[in-house]
Amino acid sequence: MSQIMIDDKENILNTYKRFNVVLTKGNGSILVDEDGKEYVDFSSGIGTNIYGVCDKEWVDAVCEQAHKLQHTSNLYYSEPQVKLAKLLCEKTGMKKVFFSNSGAESNECAIKTARKYSFDKYGEGRNEIITLVNSFHGRTIATLSATGQDVFHQFFFPFVEGFKHAPANDIEALDKLISNKTCAIMIETVQGEGGVNALNPEFIKYIDKVCKERDLVFIVDEVQTGNGRTGYLYSYMEYGVHPDVVTTAKGIAGGLPFGAILFSEKTEKTLGYGQHATTFGGNPICAAAAYSVISRIDDKLLNHVREMRKFIEEKLIGKPGIKSISGKGLMVGIEIDENIKAADVVAKGIENGVIMLTAKSKIRLLPPLNISKEDLNKGLDLLLKSMKELI
Ligand SMILES: *Cc1c(COP(=O)(O)O)cnc(C)c1O
Repeated sequence: MSQIMIDDKENILNTYKRFNVVLTKGNGSILVDEDGKEYVDFSSGIGTNIYGVCDKEWVDAVCEQAHKLQHTSNLYYSEPQVKLAKLLCEKTGMKKVFFSNSGAESNECAIKTARKYSFDKYGEGRNEIITLVNSFHGRTIATLSATGQDVFHQFFFPFVEGFKHAPANDIEALDKLISNKTCAIMIETVQGEGGVNALNPEFIKYIDKVCKERDLVFIVDEVQTGNGRTGYLYSYMEYGVHPDVVTTAKGIAGGLPFGAILFSEKTEKTLGYGQHATTFGGNPICAAAAYSVISRIDDKLLNHVREMRKFIEEKLIGKPGIKSISGKGLMVGIEIDENIKAADVVAKGIENGVIMLTAKSKIRLLPPLNISKEDLNKGLDLLLKSMKELI
């Protein structure tokens, strides 16, 4: 164990069961540890470093803004924010943007918006939000309450009232939960932490429809699926649906802490002066980084994401220990034989030189969106090698 690992355990709150590696630098989709050992990166820092490490345009955008002004309060106008908001609205057709620092905060804002939208129009009592079983929406008390997994509903009582959890892809069960108290439905189109499960298109379209019919706020949590990850700028765009609030974070600023909440015509006026705020949200360096990320998510990159997905499927399907591949684009879930633990494969991968993630019992891959076929191939060979050593 290196000194960094020892000091970490000594002084950092032990809330993470870390894997045995100290990452120090990288280039593109290759990461380097403290001993100079190289790894193919299939995690991008949990879907954040979407152009990998040391991407020149991103580094330039960050440095240029750092040399000008690192922060300004939201009490003043700031060009990087405005440029980014305009770009996001142009690319999505949404009407307004609020900037946050993280996924959980983006979802907090969405929850507040949904409840206020309903309060303004229908008064008190119409405040329930339906989310899905196996969803994940964040670690604050409200977003834990929104999260449809019992393991997250321990210790920290009382949780926030007013969340109901419907099983994914079950229209009948969803309908039973909708009442005159419901104000919103919130979904991930591909449940990330919950096991990389893509929802059925019919289910997504039904939610869009029922939200329009009953004037519910349709919230899509694109924290993980957004910003090109699934082969679309935002994953909902694949389905021809029109959410009222879209939340995102993770990849949006290429590895800096940043989030965005997008509002449709229906919700753009819901939050007014003094009703929501943040000190760091919209930070100019993060906004400049996000502009350099979002402005380059074009058809060429999105096609690359879809092509690389095909390549992953061709390479892995039918191989020893691998049962099925789930997810969309470069959000990949790998179901493996029950007698192999995903965390063991990840640990073995680190020995062999590939960094992977898990999601429930699956191996999860979130490689940089611009990963080359060569690096991808190399990493997949190391993944298969790691699997083989555990069978
Ligand atoms: C990661 C994640 C979050 C929480 O994001 P943080 O930035 O960690 O707060 C929320 N929703 C989804 C779908 C996520 O994947």
